[in-house]
Amino acid sequence: MTEDTLKQREETIESLETKLDKTRDFIKNLEHRIRLEETIRRRLHNTIQELKGNIRVFCRVRPGLSSAPNSRLSSKITSARPDQDALATIKYPDQEGREIEFAHSTETARGSQVEKSYGFVFDRVFQPSSTQSEVFEEISQLVQSALDGYNVCIFAYGQTGSGKTYTMEGPLKSTSSTDSKVHGEMGMIPRSVLQIYEHARELESKGWKYKMEGQYVEIYNETIHDLLGNEGSNSSSDLTGGSSSSKKHEIRHGPGGRTTITDITTVVLTSPEKVAALIRKAAHNRSVGSTQMNERSSRSHCVFTLRLSGTNSITDEASEGVLNLIDLAGSERLSQSGATGDRLKETQAINKSLSCLGDVIYAIANKDPHIPYRNSKLTYLLQNSLGGNSKTLMFVNISPLASNFNETLCSLRFATKVNSCTIGTATKRPIRG
Ligand code: ADP
Ligand code: MG
Repeated sequence: MTEDTLKQREETIESLETKLDKTRDFIKNLEHRIRLEETIRRRLHNTIQELKGNIRVFCRVRPGLSSAPNSRLSSKITSARPDQDALATIKYPDQEGREIEFAHSTETARGSQVEKSYGFVFDRVFQPSSTQSEVFEEISQLVQSALDGYNVCIFAYGQTGSGKTYTMEGPLKSTSSTDSKVHGEMGMIPRSVLQIYEHARELESKGWKYKMEGQYVEIYNETIHDLLGNEGSNSSSDLTGGSSSSKKHEIRHGPGGRTTITDITTVVLTSPEKVAALIRKAAHNRSVGSTQMNERSSRSHCVFTLRLSGTNSITDEASEGVLNLIDLAGSERLSQSGATGDRLKETQAINKSLSCLGDVIYAIANKDPHIPYRNSKLTYLLQNSLGGNSKTLMFVNISPLASNFNETLCSLRFATKVNSCTIGTATKRPIRG
């Protein structure tokens, strides 16, 4: 009997081993197919992005603020006085969410009121009720493109108080909050990083390993400041200097289209928690400057850069993508009359760099032989992430207040100019791998 049992067991073991071998083969096969399909997915994803256009413009109208903004900084900067200013008449005529129409009444020479309406079409119009997560849904595909090895720029353009910082960063407390409602207000920067973490983890099973490095700089008066630097934040006695005022930072364009800034802090983002710390630090460094520099954050561009380097040890592929998220300086027309000295220089710097950004995008779209990247620090810094190889998205942030109508019109016209551009089909930059 014992011998019988033994024999039976041996047979079972043998058949199990055969089964196991088969299963192993099967898994190997599947893994191979997954990797193949990832390559196909990348190609298809990019085709979709190209069909949607390598330059996209989204319009976002912020809601009227019912209660006073609670942050000291924003209440100072915001030109909106909650509840006191009348809201403009805004219509969203189409079902697809691409059109926006402003009605505005003006007085004629004879003193009678005439109502004029102004219509605009964008790739997408977000109404005041749109949530951060709805907005992110639309841009998450571009974040994916950066993971796939393309360069991406996402800009927020608009007058001060129109919701640029809210869109990009969200309220400061949102990133680290455990309250789901507050957490839901997280902006595009933390959402992008979180999405990248998730995808990078999924891609590990397909042989991809990613490294993520973040930088956060401010361009003020055509000068680069490190928002992640330690100067100015450590010493309580020196609050006048702002962030990293002592260091001079230069932009370098290296071989293979790799842009670096000298002496800049680079943070390797190893966990999602690091992002919250990074945003806090940048906000701190910025506010240190603004106490002295008169609402500086509305007068400077903030550029968050995420470099994503991926390698696949199985397929020997490599990719490097860069995701730039840019909170632009307030676009309000600043009068140069009366301004002198530093103030005049500052005013000219903002006006110039914003119009230069428009010129660059326009020149790329027109395939001009000369693209005026060098005309401003911002476009020079982003040179390798604009044009040919890259995808650009511009948010035009709009205030709903009737009193802001003229600025709103200017913003919408700027955005329309950008929107009429189409950048030629992007090609992936080959990387030695
Ligand atoms: P900007 O950066 O363009 O100067 P902010 O992002 O600081 O403007 O926005 C101005 C104010 O409006 C802030 O108090 C902000 O919290 C609020 N705000 C902007 N957009 C929204 C939105 N979509 N939902 C709720 N509040 C918003
Ligand atoms: Mg802002």
